[in-house]
Amino acid sequence: MTIKGLTQGTPPSLGLQGAHLGSYSNDDRKAERMKKGTPGFTLVDYAFRDAALTTAQASHSGRGQMNSGFYSWSPLGVTNKPEGIQKWEASPEEASRVLTKAARYYGAVDVGFCDLDKRWIYSHTYDGRPIVFEDVDEGYVTREKAVLPNSHKWVIAITVPMEVEEMMYSPAALNPVSSMGYSRMPVVAGSLAEFIRGIGYHAIPCGNDTALSIPIAVEAGLGHVGRQGRLITWKEGPMVRICKIFTDLSLTPSPPAPKGIIEFCEVCEKCAKHCPSNSIPLGPRTYEGYSEANNPGAYKWYCNADTCLGYWREMATSCAICFRVCNFTKPPGLSHNVVKWFIRNIPQLNRFWVWADDLMGYGKMADPKEYWQKP
Ligand code: SF4
Ligand code: SF4
Repeated sequence: MTIKGLTQGTPPSLGLQGAHLGSYSNDDRKAERMKKGTPGFTLVDYAFRDAALTTAQASHSGRGQMNSGFYSWSPLGVTNKPEGIQKWEASPEEASRVLTKAARYYGAVDVGFCDLDKRWIYSHTYDGRPIVFEDVDEGYVTREKAVLPNSHKWVIAITVPMEVEEMMYSPAALNPVSSMGYSRMPVVAGSLAEFIRGIGYHAIPCGNDTALSIPIAVEAGLGHVGRQGRLITWKEGPMVRICKIFTDLSLTPSPPAPKGIIEFCEVCEKCAKHCPSNSIPLGPRTYEGYSEANNPGAYKWYCNADTCLGYWREMATSCAICFRVCNFTKPPGLSHNVVKWFIRNIPQLNRFWVWADDLMGYGKMADPKEYWQKP
């Protein structure tokens, strides 16, 4: 069976994913690191990390390659609603429940829903084509523009997991978790989009492309924006990647995530203190960003993406120290759940938990020499 769309969409000549990868981790930089012989930066470690991106890259989905691979804006032809069968009719509540169940089966950690706010949509594609809305049933992308249908008024925010154990080797190359997350995203978003098409509706699955993922995830109740500028969830902390789907299937907005994460970040500052490029601010939130990579006007902590990327180039990896040291980066466990209960309910103890986290030695870099010896 031929699956439509796997090689369609963004023209290959644009090379979006390759261009981004090459910007901080091309072969020359990797070879330099390997020659230095630093543990965690060996040929084996880089190959381990890079191979985790196999599903994303080999399916032409990348980190969010618009309208390509599993992120195709057109049906892939995997599900087909037979002629003469009416589309599935359900209340928004029931549709939300069914989609949540399906998304979790396909590999989501969490799922939330919200109404579309057009301010989240990027003004342009990565290569400068405008993204516009039109009265059409199905979204499409041409060499001139990307068109989202006005009927796609609902957004599904989906998180996929990243592993805590491997994250502890950051900023070494021995950290495949982001790449593995990018490989999980198109599988979950693409499968759920095809499921929605199979019941008679339209769906536009996206990775990092087309719209800002973090405000969508926050609005869909999956978490809050932490000091490091990433989504922090109660269940997995920052250890998730986000994908999303725009659809004309009516869905019920999810309730906001419980408060407490931002209040904790206000007293914590651990990521800011450990960031090697000083890209994460100390002190209170602001409305101002650092560069055109920031979107000013929201009251939050702005990460300086330019200096962050500069450090990625220096290391020839995507760093992620701020993920490693975050107090919310913890494996599942009763004791961590108890601490989170206190953070949610008795914020007066937050400083104590920050102190205790350091005392327990959480967030220290693990020894890369030991990883491959472990069973
Ligand atoms: S990825 Fe590294 S350099 Fe970038 S903000 Fe996080 S700690 Fe700083
Ligand atoms: S390290 Fe602390 S301040 Fe930074 S995001 Fe995590 S909890 Fe918030």
